[in-house]
Amino acid sequence: PYTIEKVKELVREYPGFPSEGILFRDIFPIFHHPEAVECLINHFVELIKALNKQVDVIVGLDARGFLFGPLIAIKLGVSFVPVRKRGKLPGQLVSVTYMKEYGPDVFEMQADGIKAGQNVVIVDDLLATGGSCKAAEDLVAQMKGNVILNTFVISLVGLEGDKKLKAPVYALIKC
Ligand code: IMP
Repeated sequence: PYTIEKVKELVREYPGFPSEGILFRDIFPIFHHPEAVECLINHFVELIKALNKQVDVIVGLDARGFLFGPLIAIKLGVSFVPVRKRGKLPGQLVSVTYMKEYGPDVFEMQADGIKAGQNVVIVDDLLATGGSCKAAEDLVAQMKGNVILNTFVISLVGLEGDKKLKAPVYALIKC
């Protein structure tokens, strides 16, 4: 069985990926070990339960938020809703434009995913500048949901992404 400290050690660093000067953190090695995944998911589930607030929806960000979000949602017995990059989702959508390193990008969510007044936890693998998560917070706000927590496996604290966000931030690994 894995402890959460052992799970943290599974994250690998790749200097120079995807381009020079970037240190990429890869969470996929966690998924080589089912017991490590279970430990990580339980960690997030306990954290969310400890809020002592009703949680209605887990929102996962494209694409690695889709790895954790549904597993957390199943354990909590709540729904999972994806935020996707433009053009991937059918039906009636809400959308938001946000700034990425090399220009604007668009995030979308299906309009029936969140009802007014529902409490939402946002999940992703890594918080960098906070642009992606802020866009997700905006989408939830468009649907009149309340983000009560943003959760990440990793936060790059020097980039101060949490300052862009309205809801509190939890990260398992701060570096
Ligand atoms: P932000 O919008 O600047 O906070 O960037 C966060 C987004 O970029 C997340 O969706 C991450 O998956 C992705 N990202 C940025 N750096 C890394 C990394 O080192 N490893 C994995 N994902 C990253």
